[in-house]
Amino acid sequence: MNFPWKVEAPRIALVSLGCDKNRVDGEVMLGLLERAGCRIAAEPEADVILVNTCAFIQEAKQESIDAILEAARYREEGRCRVLLATGCLAQRYPGELLRDLPELDGVVGTGEIGRVVDIVRRAAAGERVREVGPPGFLGRDVLPRVPGGSPFTAYLKISEGCDNRCLYCVIPQLRGAHRSRRPSVLVREARSLAAGGAREIVLVAQDTTRYGSDLPEETSLASLVSQLAVLDGVAWVRLLYCYPSGITFDLVELMAREPRLCRYLDIPLQHAGDHVLRRMGRNMMGYDLRKLILFLRSAVPGLTIRSTFMVGFPGETEDDFEELLDFLQAMKLDHAGFFAYSREEGTPAALLPDQIPPEVKRERLERAAAVQRAVSHAVNRARVGSEVTVLVEGKKGGQHYGRSEGDAPDIDGRVFLNAAVDLEPGTFVRARVTGAGPYDLRARVISTLPL
Ligand code: SF4
Repeated sequence: MNFPWKVEAPRIALVSLGCDKNRVDGEVMLGLLERAGCRIAAEPEADVILVNTCAFIQEAKQESIDAILEAARYREEGRCRVLLATGCLAQRYPGELLRDLPELDGVVGTGEIGRVVDIVRRAAAGERVREVGPPGFLGRDVLPRVPGGSPFTAYLKISEGCDNRCLYCVIPQLRGAHRSRRPSVLVREARSLAAGGAREIVLVAQDTTRYGSDLPEETSLASLVSQLAVLDGVAWVRLLYCYPSGITFDLVELMAREPRLCRYLDIPLQHAGDHVLRRMGRNMMGYDLRKLILFLRSAVPGLTIRSTFMVGFPGETEDDFEELLDFLQAMKLDHAGFFAYSREEGTPAALLPDQIPPEVKRERLERAAAVQRAVSHAVNRARVGSEVTVLVEGKKGGQHYGRSEGDAPDIDGRVFLNAAVDLEPGTFVRARVTGAGPYDLRARVISTLPL
């Protein structure tokens, strides 16, 4: 890439915020820039810094602005010549960002990822770029990527956008309607990720269970997983973001019999009380959700279920909230995360009456997290004595650690291993669980696996 100032190969840094879908976008932007001759660098050494932002809730927006301001220090005092805000916040507030943050050299929306090389070149030539159009980017072909996390785990974005209309959610405005990538492209991308060392492929999308519904050919999430699970080098395929009503019998049946499909489902349920679920615009009520969980548990022995819940949605009464706590205690989900409702402009829920005061939301957040902490601890304690397969990820304070099939990267716990021999990161071991905390497990290695 030619830059107007004298650098052989411009150095690019990425600050990645928000969810793992956003992270994939960031890896693709780096991949495209690297292919164009740039080098990847840490922020203090970078000529160009991309801050790939999130705008899901108030907290995420603030974190993104803080990250831009932090990077702006390198723009003012360091080597950096170009500072761009990319991703969801840029898509949502391009004018405001350019107006309020003079340090920014441009904003790049979620639909413009494929044009990042040209955009960086123009910003480097002095143009203050505003490239925000409809959120249309999909990745119709295999795109180059520079993976940022563990070399043994790679995220594969199987579709983009969302056709559900949960009343609180701004994501469909930022990411557009649901559209799936072709299975042939995904198989090729997964093959290349596996060739690069990934042993675990994590399928992500706004709504993974809707995969394929918009493609001309007959395909589904289950058929895609079947094709990915047989690829050389892939030991685990993991599913995140499964919308509950989209979970099919085919998928459940596949999970019960395909050893390389992790017995793990992340199902963001948001709430368990009918009154709130209905007001949120969700299509399954509390009774259906309980039935679904019981069915999944009976159909897939050993299944780990993770979920996310929102507290403080407008109109949530103390009774509604108690219903959620009751659900948590009864369903004993392995892992759950909680967040407080954030009143997002442009969403129908922002206009609803009976908004909940911040202190009530905070208090409910703490209570829900405390209930789940006790549930997760009990679930983990019940695993003591059982055997688990662990992907070894590294060593900390002289102790190896990794993740079991029941732990997704970044969001769930770890397994700390007692091993008589040195373990190679990226390999799999069988281990017996010897101790449990609310998040992490301790286990003794029994054997290494030739996976
Ligand atoms: S399923 Fe609902 S919460 Fe999730 S991205 Fe779609 S609209 Fe938002």
